[in-house]
Amino acid sequence: MPIQHNVDLQAFNTLALPGRAARYRTIGSTAELAAKSLTEQPRFILGGGSNLVLDGDFDGLVLHMAIPGKRLLGEDSEAWYVEAGAGENWHDFVLWTLDRGWPGLENLSLIPGRVGAAPIQNIGAYGLEVGERLHGLKAWDFEARRIREFTAGDCRFGYRDSLFKQEGWHLTGRMAICTVVFRLPKVWQANIRYADLTQELASQHIAHPAPRDVARAVIAVRQRKLPDPTQLPNSGSFFHNPVVDAVVADALAHKHPTLPRYPQADGRVKLAAGWLIEQAGWKGKDLGPVGMYEKQALVLVNRGGATGSDVKRTMAAVQADVQTRFGVTLTPEPIFL
Ligand code: NAP
Repeated sequence: MPIQHNVDLQAFNTLALPGRAARYRTIGSTAELAAKSLTEQPRFILGGGSNLVLDGDFDGLVLHMAIPGKRLLGEDSEAWYVEAGAGENWHDFVLWTLDRGWPGLENLSLIPGRVGAAPIQNIGAYGLEVGERLHGLKAWDFEARRIREFTAGDCRFGYRDSLFKQEGWHLTGRMAICTVVFRLPKVWQANIRYADLTQELASQHIAHPAPRDVARAVIAVRQRKLPDPTQLPNSGSFFHNPVVDAVVADALAHKHPTLPRYPQADGRVKLAAGWLIEQAGWKGKDLGPVGMYEKQALVLVNRGGATGSDVKRTMAAVQADVQTRFGVTLTPEPIFL
């Protein structure tokens, strides 16, 4: 695919925000990334556009990762090793692994986006993070001009965080993730400790769920609570769940006895951003064309015709109200371009 000019990006971001790329190219194979014409800066690596706030036009080069492919690389007594191209649709890939009898990704069903973006954000849902299933990945390094291989340990995964975010490589467009290998365990145990999941399975009278049952339950819960971006543009959870010191959480719980608290391994406490936003009065509330979703206050939605500025205005208003009411700072999850 040659480089295209002045390309409309509205269909390529799930918030459906307007903006054009001065230059744009679809990447269908790892080899294409070595082209000299792609070395220009600024450069942005785009996946499914599901974690992106597009703030108007981008005067640079957008590389839209569409590298295909899914295959079993091998297996040992403990696991299957499955590789996928960065351009594969994440949810379709999860279903494909389950169809073949390779469990382990079911809790991450229906997360929008593409495989290549999953490690950057260390996508997580219902008590599982992708970093726990990642074996390794290959990425093209535009600075070193070569393919680099990363093990799961190299990726420095954290809560919705990775090396690629910590080093800012995704923002500078330095690193384009090309293929990802997952390690899917042969000894499998259902991870259904989240209340929504337990209740969904109980309502279906499933006491001993198979991986497919867990996937179906996750899909059902998500479809009930989260808006379909094709119907109501959104980018999933808009804010990180804040993690605060235990003393701060205790003081907040003293004032707000129903505050949900999730103790972390390091002694700190995770709070539910959606709960804080709801209590601050933002559930189902709009500011202009941008609001917080009526069924899940953590999801920011574009009611129609919004721009990146509209998103930033609503984001700032929500942050200010949560700060005033709880003294807690909310940080956004998406990337701003
Ligand atoms: P929820 O069940 O309403 O729970 C609210 C928050 O409390 C969640 O964000 C979750 O944190 C935390 N939580 C609930 N039960 C927990 C437990 N047993 N142990 C530890 N933490 C617990 O959440 P939801 O909004 O419907 O989302 C369900 C899951 O899907 C969550 O894991 C969420 O992160 C994930 N999700 C992610 C996105 C995204 O764009 N990143 C979008 C939608 C949903 P965690 O977020 O840390 O799990």
